[in-house]
Formats: sequence, C-alpha cells, structure tokens
Amino acid sequence: NAPERTVLVTGGAGFIGSAVCRHLVAGGRTRVINLDKMTYAASHTALAEVEGSPNYRFVQGDIADRRLVAEILRGERVDAVMHLAAESHVDRSIDGPAVFIETNITGTFHMLEAALDHWRSLDDQGKGAFRFHHVSTDEVFGDLPFDDSLFSEESAYRPSSPYSASKAAADHLVRAWHHTYGLPVVLSNCSNNYGPHQYPEKLIPLTITRAAMGLTLPVYGTGANVRDWLHVADHARALELVMTRGEAGATYVVGGREEHNNVAVVAMICDLIDERMPLATGRRRNLIRFVEDRAGHDRRYAIDPSRIELSLDWRPEIGFREGLAATVDWYLANQAIDSKSASAS
Ligand code: NAD
Repeated sequence: NAPERTVLVTGGAGFIGSAVCRHLVAGGRTRVINLDKMTYAASHTALAEVEGSPNYRFVQGDIADRRLVAEILRGERVDAVMHLAAESHVDRSIDGPAVFIETNITGTFHMLEAALDHWRSLDDQGKGAFRFHHVSTDEVFGDLPFDDSLFSEESAYRPSSPYSASKAAADHLVRAWHHTYGLPVVLSNCSNNYGPHQYPEKLIPLTITRAAMGLTLPVYGTGANVRDWLHVADHARALELVMTRGEAGATYVVGGREEHNNVAVVAMICDLIDERMPLATGRRRNLIRFVEDRAGHDRRYAIDPSRIELSLDWRPEIGFREGLAATVDWYLANQAIDSKSASAS
C-alpha cells in the first residue's frame, strides 16, 4: 500500500525522534524523511529497524540550513513537519546556553520560514491538510508546588532554565507564525520521557548505566523533585495523533499521570538491577549520594492530559513500573556496561 503522507521529522535520530520514526514507518501509512545533524545525542542504531524501508530516508543536516530544508519540503512534497530537533539537556544549557539559543530558537525560526514558503506554494487542499507540529516540553510552564495542581493547555509560561526558556521562545514563535501568517501549526508539550535509546546523561539512563556498573548514584538535592513520566512509545503514538488529527492552532499537553520523585525512581532502578545482577557488596540503594542541587531546579511537573484523552482518544498504554523494568532490561542488553569498574565508585 502506498503511504498516505510524507512527513519531515527533524531530530529523528534523537531519543524521541527515533521512536517517532520507528512508529510511523511501522504503521505503513507515512513516508518519513529524517533530517538530523547527528549531535552527541543522536543514534544511528536507534534507526536500524527503519533504515532499509522504502518509506524512510535519512538526510544529515542542520535545521538552520534553510536551502536544504526548502529542497526537502518541495522535492519530497512534504505534507507535514514534526519538529523535534533541539538541544535537550537542562544541565548542558546551564553550562553552555549559546547552542540552545542557536538550535532551539533560531533553528525553529528557520524551520518556520521554510515551512511557510512551502505551505504558500501548495494548492488549497494541500494548504488545508498541511501541519507544522512543534514538539515541546512541559518545562516551559516552570514548576508546580507539591500539591495536586496540574499543568494544562492554559498554564502560564514561566520557564526556569536556559533550556526551557529557549523552548518557550520557540513555542511563541510557532504560535506567532500561525496567528500572523496563517501557517497551520499544532503544538504538544510533554512531560519527561523514558525508554530505550536515550543518551545516558538524563536521570533514568544515567542511573541505570551507573547502577549496573556499581558506581555511586548522584541525586540532586534531597531527591524530592517530582516528574510525571511517560514511556517514549506512548509519546510517539500521541505525536502521530496530534500531527494527523490535531486542530490547526491547537496545543495539547501530554503526560502519563505517573508522578514519582527522583529518589523513588532511582531506588526502583536499584531494586530492578539488584534482582537481575546482585552486587556482592550489598544493595544498590546504598550507592545513592545526594549532591548539590541543580541551580534553579524545578520542584514538580505534572500534566492534566484531558484534552488529548478526550479529543484524540489517546491514553498511555505502558505503566511506569512495567516500562521502567523493560527499559532496565534494554540498557543491560544493549549498553556496553563495563563490569570491571563494578566495584569502583
Ligand atoms: P535528544 O537530545 O535525544 O535528540 C535531539 C536530536 O536533535 C538529536 O538527534 C540531534 O542530533 C538533533 N539536532 C540537534 N540540533 C540539531 C540541528 N541544529 N539540526 C538538526 N538536528 C539537530 O532529544 P529528545 O529527548 O529526543 O527530545 C526531542 C524533542 O522533544 C526536543 O524538542 C525536546 O525539547 C522535546 N521533549 C523532550 C522530552 C524528554 O523527556 N526527552 C520531553 C518533552 C519534550
């Protein structure tokens, strides 16, 4: 069967982008062009299962290269853009914010301009069907107190870190290109993702790889910070629905209704790895070390995903404990764990 649409995915070699490529190509209805610069966070192995498919093409390049993006949009007759390319790690944004401004803000501006040119060249039917889907984060809303309040599509923007501020700026640009020029955009703001193929610098993959090696496990502050966790495969399904059925101009917040504080997540990972490969020296929970808190560390993120649940009939399918166990198994099987350093700290 011929695919129904061609989608340009930016950042498709990253953690979430590669899950989106795998999901769309497996569905058979979409032809995917993946534009990725291949920064440190990108992975070719995450794309191994789509690489031979006639419905998948990889282009190495920068989203700021407007001529390249224009060539892809026109030459491939692209029906929708899913824009995920970004610098995504908060700690790196604190140490070196410049590339976050460059990629997340200026890069998004170039993508919008290229998409607008392309959209204007389409006939009326093509114009109506086109979508520019900007993939963003709940971190743009700042943080929540430790109570039962939730972020929604109406939450105010209060970003705390250079990363979240750069994503907030991009969200505003995307909405402005809709209101001012009529570009049919959709936005989604998702909570923290976890799953296979994530570069091991973020909490879950970092903890798994260090715990497997028997290394100390750094946890910021008192570990009380709460995140709402969503498996990356559930996010990829949500993103396809937003891209194909999302209303032009609309925003959807996405989350798993799975709030856990950081130290609880680290402890769960310790127990999962203890069950699979016990340490002679005792339980891995003893390796937890509380370290100086991240500057400007947000206390709590939590999402009310009612809109996407009701209007697009989306629900997470993977519970956190089950998904975390599968993620641990994936890292143990696929990540080179240096067992010689298993007694180091
Ligand atoms: P990631 O860091 O794993 O991947 C980002 C990808 O973008 C990499 O493959 C990288 O090579 C590519 N890239 C970076 N700069 C580029 C450029 N200038 N041109 C082309 N490609 C470039 O990030 P991720 O975790 O997969 O996040 C993807 C998107 O989802 C980001 O926009 C992020 O803000 C958003 N998001 C992430 C999470 C999360 O928990 N990871 C949650 C919500 C939203």
